[in-house]
Amino acid sequence: MSFSSLPSTTPDSYSWFAEALLAWYPRHRRDLPWRHTHDPYLIWLSEVILQQTRVKQGLPYYKTFSTAYPTVQALAAAPPDEVLRHWQGLGYYSRARNMHYTAQQVVAEFGSQFPDSYAGLLKLKGVGQYTAAAVASFAYDERVAVLDGNVFRVLARVFGQHHDIAAPASRKLFQQLADQLIPADQPAEFNQAIMEFGALQCTPAKPDCMFCPLQSRCFAFQHGLVAELPVKSKAKVARTRYFHYLVLRHADTVYLRKRGPKDIWEGLYDFALHETDAPELPGADLLAAVEQLGGRVATDQVEEPAVAARHVLSHQKVEALFHEIWLAAPLPATATSAGLAAYRSREIEQLPKSILITNYISKKEI
Ligand code: SF4
Repeated sequence: MSFSSLPSTTPDSYSWFAEALLAWYPRHRRDLPWRHTHDPYLIWLSEVILQQTRVKQGLPYYKTFSTAYPTVQALAAAPPDEVLRHWQGLGYYSRARNMHYTAQQVVAEFGSQFPDSYAGLLKLKGVGQYTAAAVASFAYDERVAVLDGNVFRVLARVFGQHHDIAAPASRKLFQQLADQLIPADQPAEFNQAIMEFGALQCTPAKPDCMFCPLQSRCFAFQHGLVAELPVKSKAKVARTRYFHYLVLRHADTVYLRKRGPKDIWEGLYDFALHETDAPELPGADLLAAVEQLGGRVATDQVEEPAVAARHVLSHQKVEALFHEIWLAAPLPATATSAGLAAYRSREIEQLPKSILITNYISKKEI
């Protein structure tokens, strides 16, 4: 049986599913801070932080943000660099920028009150169906089913769904199914339960089928298809980029610049960058790149070998080489057109940076 062949039915026909999850949940759930609140701001904050992030990794960030910015007004008023600095290490930095923007929108357009319905929450920039459903159900107990990776997996396995979960068209089908399953009297508890069940019991690899309360009803288990479901088409192969960082130093300062829009790490600070199509950068090209910035440098002032580092993102791989270069004189004022400015060590510490840059700085004790 596949989902497309499921008989049309009333929600009661599937009540066994909700009953099993609601019995499982109180015995297995993790004690997490955002489960003790109905404050839509804190719930939204936790959901933004946990997107594409494991609970263990996201937890300290939730604590940092909820302490530094206990209200949506506090977050909205925070300087952008400070928000990025707190986010440092969590990746997908556009999430931090969107989060900040959404907080400002809530303050400016909604009188600092989060909209109190699923439909209203969807009007916020950067709030998609998943986040709106999570906030609406956890904060307001609205009966709207959440669909995240965990929920997709549980539904695909239990109900024998073979639709590609990476295809946008599949979302509607899974949503229809989830909407049939969610009970009217405990929507928030059900949503928490199914996500937690996917995170702890019906895991991507090695799900605990032997001790699963859904085993006798689970299509994937009964048909030996646990490893095959859910179906997910492969993401595009990541492209490789070659970053040659010119770590320009003079006296006790290092030159950094803020990264611009339309590329990775927008708003974060890094060094002067020379990107190439090949891994190597000949010495003459390196010196020419420094001279283009107005830098005067002697060949023996370029530290050898350059420090290599790799950073893998979802759609691209960065192969970085850090060329540490001691300048004979400070960069001329024209270098500011490339956004470069000289910073001392203590100032650099306060700037938001990618993990790639942070690791290099701590390794070199800049
Ligand atoms: S039997 Fe296995 S695959 Fe099926 S719901 Fe339980 S843990 Fe998931």
